[in-house]
Amino acid sequence: MLLTRDDWYETSRDLDWTFTAVDEAVAFPASWSGAGGIPPQAWQGWEEPFRVSYRDYVRIQREKESGVKAVSNALVRSGTYEKLDPAHVAASHLHMGTTCMVEHMAVTMQSRFCRFAPTPKWRNLGVFGMLDETRHTQLDLRFSHDLLGKDPRFDWAQKAFHTNEWGVIAVKNFFDDVMLSADCVEAALATSLTVEHGFTNIQFVALAADAMAAGDINWSNLLSSIQTDEARHAQQGFPTLSVLMEHDPQRAQTALDVAFWRSTRLFQTLTGPAMDYYTPLDQRKVSFKEFMLEWIVNHHERILEDYGLKKPWYWDDFLRSLEQGHHAMHLGTWFWRPTLFWRPNAGVSKDEREWLVSKYPTWEDDYGVMWDQIIANVNSGAVERTLPETLPSLCSLTQLPIGSAFSRHEVGKHATVHNGRTYHFDSHISKWCFDQDPDRYAGHKTVVDRFIGGEIQPMDLGGGLMWMGITPDVMGDDVYAYRWAKDYVSPAATNGAPAPQPVAVAGD
Ligand code: FE
Ligand code: FE
Repeated sequence: MLLTRDDWYETSRDLDWTFTAVDEAVAFPASWSGAGGIPPQAWQGWEEPFRVSYRDYVRIQREKESGVKAVSNALVRSGTYEKLDPAHVAASHLHMGTTCMVEHMAVTMQSRFCRFAPTPKWRNLGVFGMLDETRHTQLDLRFSHDLLGKDPRFDWAQKAFHTNEWGVIAVKNFFDDVMLSADCVEAALATSLTVEHGFTNIQFVALAADAMAAGDINWSNLLSSIQTDEARHAQQGFPTLSVLMEHDPQRAQTALDVAFWRSTRLFQTLTGPAMDYYTPLDQRKVSFKEFMLEWIVNHHERILEDYGLKKPWYWDDFLRSLEQGHHAMHLGTWFWRPTLFWRPNAGVSKDEREWLVSKYPTWEDDYGVMWDQIIANVNSGAVERTLPETLPSLCSLTQLPIGSAFSRHEVGKHATVHNGRTYHFDSHISKWCFDQDPDRYAGHKTVVDRFIGGEIQPMDLGGGLMWMGITPDVMGDDVYAYRWAKDYVSPAATNGAPAPQPVAVAGD
């Protein structure tokens, strides 16, 4: 007689054994499992709600795969790509270059769960997570490969993480830390709970909605398909947090507070500009801030409350940064556009500005004035004055430009001296993160450290671009060739009145 699923399920996912030939501590070193200080029996209560069997998993994934493939095959042939707005397409270049290899890094993280997680139930779920992330990597690669003939920027899906492009270094720095170097417990808190269960919603739900509105059904479909997996394997975070709350709540609080701020800064860079500037105005669903408030802030507050944790000490400053961080990152990335492998959209035509002010009431005072100067330079034919000649100073934690976490009115000095070296930060919060565990971050050199140390030759923008792997065929430039600036050419100026005087802008 065949057993029913319920008869065998528990045994199949909770199969463990007692070691006789090797020490448990050698088979499951605490440095890999992260279970140091937590009694082994604590993990017996580790439960996740999905209760998926391998046979079910394969069947469902196969259906998802054929769904994505059918849509993609039909659309690649239909010429839809050529009709997409170029600013929207830039968002897909940015996504593929910065995300595809993160999916691949996640395979390694999940495989660590499969092998070293402190309970067989978790190791079992890790197997599905590992297969999920393999699928995500391959989806991104296939999508990009199909479009490679249309634009060499899609090559960056595979290439980006083998270059020294500064934005890619910032992404890699974070995921090296929370995926590749973290033990299972910490990876579950920082990656599963914070990034996968929270922040990926911005990329995979909000951006998927924008992509659909923009007519990019192929990409939207891919993003949504990926998110269905994330929702499942991200569940590894919750039971892990439960165990930690019983045995080491302070460790959970610190790990989550650090991961939440680092994720915020990263998504302010990757998704904020795409949502509030690259997505064509009539296709925008909600603002980046609105989405953050609804999906990330509410969600994180609920988790903290449910598990008895406090809000991060920097909560009010985080909320303030939602008004500013991604605008600063957008201005900075647009200004340093030759260092990008995608073409950013300035997104500051008169209509767009009106929208920005309706969503961010202080935008004109914080950022509009700087864009005004850029616009004056563009309209007086001095585009070269809107281009960088130097590098911005970078944060030793986030690797992002200093001055890009809050508005231009709040550029303070935040530094830590550790083992005789001074580290600079983009905010008091990033400094606090670093100070929690300086040795963890201290060995990394920012792009500017490498520049000053002579690793980048010749020591100018051209040398920097070569070092970053930026070639002329992918180098970033304004995606609309400054068309939006025409909005501001006053009739008086064209009648011979003096045009605004060009002034060099130092970016953000
Ligand atoms: Fe993934
Ligand atoms: Fe994932």
